[in-house]
Amino acid sequence: MKIFNTLTRQKDEFVPIEEGKVGMYVCGPTVYNFMHIGNARPMIVFDTLRRYFEYKGYKVTYVSNYTDVDDKIIKKANEEGVDASVISERYIKEAEKDMDMLNISKDIIHPRATQEIDGMIEMISSLIEKGHAYAVDGTVYFRTRSFDGYGKLSKKNIDDLEAGHRDIKVSGEEGKEDPLDFVLWKPKKEGEPAWPSPWGEGRPGWHIECSVMSRKYLGEEIDIHAGGEDLIFPHHENEIAQSESANGKPFAHYWMHNGFLNIDNVKMSKSLGNFFTIREVSEKYDLQVLRFFMLSAHYRSPLNFSAPLMEAAANGLERILTAIDRLATLRVTGPAEITAEEEQYVEEVKALVKKYEDAMEDDFNTADAVSAVFEIVKSANINVTADSSQALRDYYLDELKTLCGVLGIKTEKKEELLDEDIMLLIQQRQDARKAKNFALADQIRDQLLAQGIVLKDTREGVKWSRK
Ligand code: AMP
Ligand code: ZN
Repeated sequence: MKIFNTLTRQKDEFVPIEEGKVGMYVCGPTVYNFMHIGNARPMIVFDTLRRYFEYKGYKVTYVSNYTDVDDKIIKKANEEGVDASVISERYIKEAEKDMDMLNISKDIIHPRATQEIDGMIEMISSLIEKGHAYAVDGTVYFRTRSFDGYGKLSKKNIDDLEAGHRDIKVSGEEGKEDPLDFVLWKPKKEGEPAWPSPWGEGRPGWHIECSVMSRKYLGEEIDIHAGGEDLIFPHHENEIAQSESANGKPFAHYWMHNGFLNIDNVKMSKSLGNFFTIREVSEKYDLQVLRFFMLSAHYRSPLNFSAPLMEAAANGLERILTAIDRLATLRVTGPAEITAEEEQYVEEVKALVKKYEDAMEDDFNTADAVSAVFEIVKSANINVTADSSQALRDYYLDELKTLCGVLGIKTEKKEELLDEDIMLLIQQRQDARKAKNFALADQIRDQLLAQGIVLKDTREGVKWSRK
């Protein structure tokens, strides 16, 4: 398989460190709010990549962190007058619900920064010992120029960076030897979570978290490190500097970065206010549609989110699921085995499966792989009829299910809830609320949402609709 490697700026043949195994680390969200659909892109894309590796027989170890200590989390905690952990716990729970609805594999190691502080102190200490870091008044900085390869991922020249930084004085960072140096440990400020350390109470910088967590769960040298393209600089550049200085080994062999998700052709960002949360989208569409939409584009291309494009994705997905459902319920009356005449259809499907695999092998081109699935659907709709052999019907059905499974698209029909059942659950939720059992009430709402039922609390009572 060829993978576009940000480090080499070319498609490199994927060769795992250990035969038959893949270790991958995907930078996860900072948990201070509901995740937006931009955050969903790396989750969907790299979950699909892991599924493809598994389809090829690899054993995958997949690590994706939660950044649960950060300025934004602290700010929100102060606004609400609660502990930072209340905020991060809340949004990790919500993130898990979103991931479940997006059908992200559950076999993920999700380390949390706040539970890995010891490892961070240890790595920072060893960087100081090796001369790659220094402490000034409770802050520890990484000595950027001490790492020869700095800039190799983002292709930035360290001297140009220096020129750009010269005039910038960040308050509180006057103790830096060099403007290029970045923070590994920062001292406690009033009202902030802090941990004891050899440099005084404080908390880790963001970059060190990922270096430590990826080493702990995957080892010093890993196959794939991934995230959105905004992370190339400085986050991933700094991770490389830290990890390679600490371990004396190359860090990740392949660096993969997804393109950005835009809204109506404008970069989606919280600061511009033009973002949708995954939860908002889930109220309009089954999140399988969002997943399918994202995979219909190449992961490195920018992707525009808009209502017409989501409608097109919904229609496309429906076409595939309808074809699968027709095959699954078709009463075929032909012979059990594939007939000589049907052999040509088997060959046709084989060629399309190869097309799908070739697309995936070429830098994980899910867009072309999805086209191959559409072609199999078309072929099934034309060539599998009531007169077909059972084996032919099963062959098409199995292939379609397998290929959709690699994309993480669920193909089994959802059991529709009856109106009476919905009313009963709504009543149970009302009872739970009256009894102040809000956890149960929320659980019932989420359960309904997962089955496509959206509740709206209005003055006239609870209204519900099907997505
Ligand atoms: P953050 O919580 O901002 O650290 O982001 C978590 C992950 O989502 C990172 O891999 C980001 O690169 C990615 N990400 C954030 N916004 C977008 C976006 N608009 N499009 C694609 N990926 C994004
Ligand atoms: Zn990271």
